[in-house]
Amino acid sequence: MLIDKFGRTIEYLRISVTDRCNFRCIYCENRGPFKKVPAGEILTYEEILEIVEVALELGVKRIRITGGEPLLRKDIEDLIKRLSSLEGLKDLSLTTNGYFLLEKAETLKRSGVRRLNVSLDTLSPTKFFHLTGGFNFQRVWQGLLKAEELGFSPIKINVVVIRGFNDEEILELAKLSLRYPWEIRFIEYMPVGKQSNWNEEKIVPLAEIKAQVESYLPLKPVTSFGGGPAKVFQWEGALGKIGFISPISEHFCSTCNRLRITAEGKLRACLFSDKEIDLREYLRDKKGSLKEAFSLALQIKPEVRNLKTTKRAMRTIGG
Ligand code: SAM
Ligand code: SF4
Repeated sequence: MLIDKFGRTIEYLRISVTDRCNFRCIYCENRGPFKKVPAGEILTYEEILEIVEVALELGVKRIRITGGEPLLRKDIEDLIKRLSSLEGLKDLSLTTNGYFLLEKAETLKRSGVRRLNVSLDTLSPTKFFHLTGGFNFQRVWQGLLKAEELGFSPIKINVVVIRGFNDEEILELAKLSLRYPWEIRFIEYMPVGKQSNWNEEKIVPLAEIKAQVESYLPLKPVTSFGGGPAKVFQWEGALGKIGFISPISEHFCSTCNRLRITAEGKLRACLFSDKEIDLREYLRDKKGSLKEAFSLALQIKPEVRNLKTTKRAMRTIGG
């Protein structure tokens, strides 16, 4: 079992399969030149599977595939298929910007993904274009509808709320839960990486987001589809739910059950800590067993996050 020195049991692993992304979201990275991880340093599917098999032996039950944009990685469906057939894995999910869902949703479903998180911060095509560095809103929206039609469940929509950008759309985005069985999750804007865009004034605290949503109709607390750090509510009569994630104003470190692996195999114990264990040294240079690497991660997992800006951009960590 993976239990850290503060008594938290780790059972959730988020794996970034690529640092590449077609989008250039303003909150995710600096829009300057992006230094790609050389292809030879990215973990192969065999290496990812080897890590996951050890993680499962150690008690991990849930895996999320993320990126960069995971659907950009060649043959991602093959990895997913192989992961979903592993004994002991209770839950396999994927976070995506949705851009390739229209063509890939069907094969993804067949390969074993059930739970999908799609990032969608605005319903305005113009704002979407600006936010993502020039991409088409309709294509993501059509992809989402396709995923819905194919029966992915639950579908969660990640909304990063940024003052002056989409805070006036909170209610409109929340209202998607009236028509669709989706969980609309509002996330506070986090200072990760050296993106030039972040500053404290741009954070919209959870209490303010929730007050806006409640001004429309009262919310009743419900359980989330699939657990996680979100506090989840529902409007009477709605098909979907509304979640709030507050890494800044009310952290949830005491219940943190996760580790992260970057595309080049750095095991991170906390989103906000740059202390990492290089799994490639264990896989390629035979520094020791992967079990030893996981137990080192438990030792570097901080009790509470430290919000100083991390060196890495979010897209190289995976969110
Ligand atoms: N490309 C995929 C996507 O956008 O869904 C997966 C990777 S992305 C890094 C994972 C999540 O991190 C997304 O939901 C994104 O909105 C979120 N994210 C990125 N930068 C963030 C920030 N500064 N604060 C809060 N969430 C952020
Ligand atoms: Fe790409 Fe996702 Fe980051 Fe946007 S949030 S730049 S889609 S990795």
